[in-house]
Amino acid sequence: MNKTLLKNYAKLIVEIGANVQKGQDVIIQARVNEAYFAELVAEAAYKAKARSVMVEWSDDQITRLAYKYQSLKTLSEMPKWKEEKLQHQVDTLPARIYITSDDPDALKGVDQDKYTKVKMALGPTIMKYREQMDNKYQWVIAGIPSEAWAKKVFPNETKSNAVKKLWDAILKTTRVLGDPIENWKEHNKILKEKCEWLNNLGIKSLHYESKNGTNFNINLLKGMVFDGGAARTISGVVYQPNMPTEECFTSPDKTSANGVVMATKPLSVDGKVVDNFGFRFENGKVVEVLAKDANSKEVLEHLISVDEGARQLGEVALVPFDSPINQTGILFFETLYDENACCHLALGRAFEECIKDFDKMTSEERKAFNLNTSIIHVDFMIGSEDLNITATTFDGKTVEIFKNGTWA
Ligand code: ZN
Repeated sequence: MNKTLLKNYAKLIVEIGANVQKGQDVIIQARVNEAYFAELVAEAAYKAKARSVMVEWSDDQITRLAYKYQSLKTLSEMPKWKEEKLQHQVDTLPARIYITSDDPDALKGVDQDKYTKVKMALGPTIMKYREQMDNKYQWVIAGIPSEAWAKKVFPNETKSNAVKKLWDAILKTTRVLGDPIENWKEHNKILKEKCEWLNNLGIKSLHYESKNGTNFNINLLKGMVFDGGAARTISGVVYQPNMPTEECFTSPDKTSANGVVMATKPLSVDGKVVDNFGFRFENGKVVEVLAKDANSKEVLEHLISVDEGARQLGEVALVPFDSPINQTGILFFETLYDENACCHLALGRAFEECIKDFDKMTSEERKAFNLNTSIIHVDFMIGSEDLNITATTFDGKTVEIFKNGTWA
């Protein structure tokens, strides 16, 4: 891959994505296999005047071995030094850069029960620290190909061709070609306009219908807004949490989902691919996992059992079916890309930043919205060519939002 393009991408991630501030600490999360790119990102961060850069490396095989050989008790422990590290992050608010290159099947075969129990055990402690940091620091997720991921996306290509094709798709969808900074400025403007249009409608509820079986209702809350594109910390630093991004999203009334939604793309959940599934909701909660094969059903049933909020919705996002990412015709098996290809919902944690003027409120005022909380936030795609979405507004009007998969 062209070195200049890679450097431009790393710079884009640091300067527009995380918007690293002078004197700020930076934490990069990356897989050891893709160390070369973490190095480029680290250099870009130092050039942006980061005070220090730390990398948290991961390795699929080491993770698999841990689940195989460590006892449930050991895996579930949060040693004191790890808690101190989290506390240090609460105190110093480093920018976080996640470089994802995950093999969608990385943890296939790992004991599902054990995996879920570990998540349940560690969840409350992690959430305690995360809640203290939410919306106070900048973060970004961006992808680069690994061989395993590229081969999952392009199974008929040689490894090197698959990697090259995935690079091309990533650089294109993240608008790195041409003048990336101008591209993102323009893109953010368009997304903000779309959100403003939605917000001016005053949407009270959304009804989804598609011939694949989706027939679903959800309510939105007064005082919540759709957001998209760049985000802002409470102290006012602008950053770009997802690269790419094509969505207008908000957090719904967690008690209001009713009906059936069918997924329209497979999904990698905790390192295992699930496909042909859906959920039936009653009064906000998943009451039935619909899945054709037993493996997918098992993975999803474990997913929604990790905590109370895991079976409720934290996100409603609108993305036209003809989005640039869907137009690539590529199924990425990576939510960062696939969620930006069509409409989706997410189980789990909601976004407080979708409360209008959230940054001027006390945490008690934000809590009063009773948004969903959970250790998980898992998007699943429900957009299809014939998806229709109709809104009912707070003043009683009916408005077509999506017709045949795209903006009405
Ligand atoms: Zn989303």
